[in-house]
Amino acid sequence: MNKIIIENSIIESNDKLTESIYLLKVHSPIIASKIKPGQFCNVKVSDTDYPLLRRPFSICDVENHLIVFLYQVVGVGTEILAQKMEGEVLSILGPLGNGFNFDDDFETAIIIGGGIGVAPFPFLIRNITNKKIVSYIGFRNKNEIVDYGLTNCKYATDDGSFGLKGTCIDLFKSENTILNSKTKIFACGPNPMLKSLIEYCSDKNLNCEVSLESAMACGFGICQGCVVESKEDDEYKLVCKDGPVFKFNEIKL
Ligand SMILES: Cc1cc2nc3c(=O)[nH]c(=O)nc-3n(C[C@H](O)[C@H](O)[C@H](O)COP(=O)(O)OP(=O)(O)OC[C@H]3O[C@@H](n4cnc5c(N)ncnc54)[C@H](O)[C@@H]3O)c2cc1C
Repeated sequence: MNKIIIENSIIESNDKLTESIYLLKVHSPIIASKIKPGQFCNVKVSDTDYPLLRRPFSICDVENHLIVFLYQVVGVGTEILAQKMEGEVLSILGPLGNGFNFDDDFETAIIIGGGIGVAPFPFLIRNITNKKIVSYIGFRNKNEIVDYGLTNCKYATDDGSFGLKGTCIDLFKSENTILNSKTKIFACGPNPMLKSLIEYCSDKNLNCEVSLESAMACGFGICQGCVVESKEDDEYKLVCKDGPVFKFNEIKL
């Protein structure tokens, strides 16, 4: 199990990229030295008791001592986070969860990100060496697209304002990419998107890992609040502790 620590981390920058998406960089030398692609941290967004719970965010990238988060403002916690300024301190708990497996024998990495589901991939891409990488990303519209840190991107938008009209899964399927036993797919996004990808990968017998972003509280397996059904034994797994990254055939969405 990871040794989890709390690090009081000074904000280096907190930049608005689109109407709702921000890029946050914090000085967290200890967590930055331990964390792996696909893992996440739980961030205390306020100095008060409100909101009480920390908020989980994927590691978007690591730049020396800096941890980079890419986050979307959706509610009270992320609204507070968006107001934070350079020099303020955030309490960061991590590293949490299990990351992506990218040491296996594949030649092409297919990255699929739906909306803010693109967040964990810059750090993964930085760590994948000597392989072909293609990224399929989908957003609601042109103004929401963020391709920070991604490689060889292809785009879809729900309204067709940029790239293919449809989801990133529609885009991936439409491209007729050559898929074989040397292809590995890494995906993150809303559950309905991942469910459709899991069905496709089962049909085509493809190698795929999905990262789930289910709501959670503690982040390390105590509260049991983030269960996902396991395919193996009709039991449940915890997204925070057993995931957030799962093999596509391990879980039922
Ligand atoms: C392992 C993991 C990694 C994540 N990585 C990122 C990331 O890199 N960037 C990012 O922007 N977000 C990420 N998320 C989601 C992020 O944690 C939530 O968006 C955030 O906690 C919302 O906090 P809030 O206080 O702003 O919203 P709240 O006020 O708590 O909720 C606002 C609305 O969003 C819904 N909501 C809250 N959390 C989630 C969730 N996890 N999934 C779906 N709906 C939710 C609520 O039901 C409510 O309708 C991740 C979640 C997990 C579990």
